[in-house]
Amino acid sequence: MNIPFLNLKHINAQYRTALIEAASRVIDSGWYIQGKEVREFEQEFAAFCDSENCIGVANGLDALTLVLRAWKEQGRLKDGDEVIVPGNTYIASILAISENRLVPVLVEPDERTYNLCPYKVEAAITSRTKVVLAVHLYGQLADMPAILEIARRYDLLVLEDAAQAHGASRQGRKAGNWGEAAGFSFYPGKNLGALGDAGAVTTQDDELARMVRTLGNYGSRRKYEHSVKGVNSRLDEIQAAFLRVKLRNLEEEIVQRRRLASTYLANINNEIVALPTVSDMQAHVFHLFVVRSPRREAFINHLHESGVGSLVHYPLPPHKQLTYSELNASYPLCERLANEVVSIPLYPGLTDEQQAFVIESINAFR
Ligand SMILES: *Cc1c(COP(=O)(O)O)cnc(C)c1O
Repeated sequence: MNIPFLNLKHINAQYRTALIEAASRVIDSGWYIQGKEVREFEQEFAAFCDSENCIGVANGLDALTLVLRAWKEQGRLKDGDEVIVPGNTYIASILAISENRLVPVLVEPDERTYNLCPYKVEAAITSRTKVVLAVHLYGQLADMPAILEIARRYDLLVLEDAAQAHGASRQGRKAGNWGEAAGFSFYPGKNLGALGDAGAVTTQDDELARMVRTLGNYGSRRKYEHSVKGVNSRLDEIQAAFLRVKLRNLEEEIVQRRRLASTYLANINNEIVALPTVSDMQAHVFHLFVVRSPRREAFINHLHESGVGSLVHYPLPPHKQLTYSELNASYPLCERLANEVVSIPLYPGLTDEQQAFVIESINAFR
């Protein structure tokens, strides 16, 4: 058997007829930027997140970058302000900070959830701290009640990086609806994936929503009038039309992901392969199912030889990247995780038979 880590072709094939119908609708409309599809998708995705506002942008990195930029335009942030962020996140979270001439302050994650640890956040606060960037890594909501409580006490803004967590929730409150704002990615491999690059910002703050929309459209609120120095970061009509098709089935896909995750949690049984800690199934949408092994290279080779695909999220933490030598303090937990984590196949359409094969292969690793 050969089981790829991810099969996007298979995932999108389920929607083939509806995607083609959506593409035709856009082609025949003669309107390709900032039209009806984007407006409708923004409303539908805002409703999905229980958020007041959704602004489509070009990708997930831009979503995060534009929120921080909007806060600078509003005078709520200035050059050199500090943003607390988990040190084991994807590089985009950090790039959004440095792009705005803000200072990323990395903290070690919680060893069990891989998300921000509230105690370590509080310990990292200085007089220059202005934002906590909470990443819902692998699809699991960060400890938002505790993070919001700290943010309130120290008067900090909270930005969620929800690129991996569409639909994750806690106490009935969805990702994208906890912080002042959130950035989502619809990169093809994300749980809600476009057929190209796409992203969105959600926020309950109408003023912030207007500023993000203005910044992403050349700093223009009215055509040819420019109140701020903006950029071009817009969601295309055709991607919005595709996303509308896939959003209709997202809840159902999340249910499938949770079912696959429960099966892994109940059946993987190997002393040298540690399972992820899941305290609340509703808080997790299993963008990735990440196990750990102290003998990672041997484990990956074993899977590969059995025909099971895997990936590492992420092999080199941001502070070890060449471009971030200024961050080069020591984050032993981030480094250990980077050396031990392995993501195994989990996606809608993975059959019970395929999953049983993956489990058998993992359990046979010695
Ligand atoms: C994918 C991702 C991003 C960036 O999204 P793009 O659409 O690829 O720009 C940001 N943060 C996290 C945690 C991600 O996984």
